[in-house]
Amino acid sequence: MSLLQVKNLTKSFGGVKAADNVSFDLPRGQLLALLGPNGAGKSTCFNMVNGQLKPNSGSILLDGQELIGMKPRNIWRLGVGRTFQIAATFSSMTVVENVQMALMSFERKLSHLWRPAASFYRDEAMALLAQVDMASQAERSCGVLAYGDVKRVELAIALANQPKLLLMDEPTAGMAPNERNALMALTKKLVVERNLSVLFTEHSMDVVFAYADRMIVLARGQLIAEGDGETIRNHPKVREVYFGT
Ligand code: ADP
Ligand code: MG
Repeated sequence: MSLLQVKNLTKSFGGVKAADNVSFDLPRGQLLALLGPNGAGKSTCFNMVNGQLKPNSGSILLDGQELIGMKPRNIWRLGVGRTFQIAATFSSMTVVENVQMALMSFERKLSHLWRPAASFYRDEAMALLAQVDMASQAERSCGVLAYGDVKRVELAIALANQPKLLLMDEPTAGMAPNERNALMALTKKLVVERNLSVLFTEHSMDVVFAYADRMIVLARGQLIAEGDGETIRNHPKVREVYFGT
């Protein structure tokens, strides 16, 4: 059974069908790209999986458990993580402190009784930073980091919650091509090492082809194609949407 099973998901905003009967599966240990032009419905699908939006109809199963109707916090507890922009208030904290905070809040989510100080999590935070190649910058303040490095810290923060499924909405937006490649290579490494499932959105195709195991393409809320890079690249509907040919 796939970790994530999305079935016949539909969401309308007024007259706009932002998701129109969308179905797809995401097995464990796979990096699945959700492609599509602006307005295709990518963020809408994401926000239904993490519980921020309630679909009009359909089903979202995680390990066979229905997520629709659950609060975002409870979906997070089940192991659906997402990368957030680091809040501005944390930019004065160091890299390692930010990860320690994330680890602390994860423990608090599990136990109301045991509350060690953030410093307790230093070693674990350093181990996570090593996984995202940021250990050497642990003592720098987040506010002075290069953009690509901020994204690495965001990944470490997301991993602090030990997700089974990680959702990344346009993780490479605003990045230079070399930074994009580095972030996707890192994400791919984490998928393999942790048997993590990642669903990410992207509107540019070049990076996706190099790193995603599989991709699905949305256009006007509908899933128009699904498959590996070769299938997607040559798919007539995809070519029409992206290249107008
Ligand atoms: P993408 O992330 O692929 O760019 P979105 O999921 O953000 O696309 O949007 C899909 C469609 O749904 C667009 O037409 C958008 O205008 C509409 N939409 C998204 N969110 C809302 C909302 N909260 N209220 C009204 N319309 C929305
Ligand atoms: Mg979007």
